[in-house]
Amino acid sequence: MEFICQHCDEVATGERYRVISEENGLVFLNMVVCRSCQEQAKQLGLHAERITYSDRSRSRHSPPADRLMVGHSHT
Ligand SMILES: [Zn+2]
Repeated sequence: MEFICQHCDEVATGERYRVISEENGLVFLNMVVCRSCQEQAKQLGLHAERITYSDRSRSRHSPPADRLMVGHSHT
């Protein structure tokens, strides 16, 4: 399955990885990358995990996506 790596903008095939940078509950980075970018990210100390579709059927807790873009909008 092909996809565009969100880090290097190359068309990649095979495994895709999600790289997340999170600090104090705030997500700074959340992108789908290819394998080589994932390895770079890990060397930078970022959290990276392989995306598997079979895992979606399990009841893993998923981070609330609507919190990602929430700022102080009601001031
Ligand atoms: Zn890449």
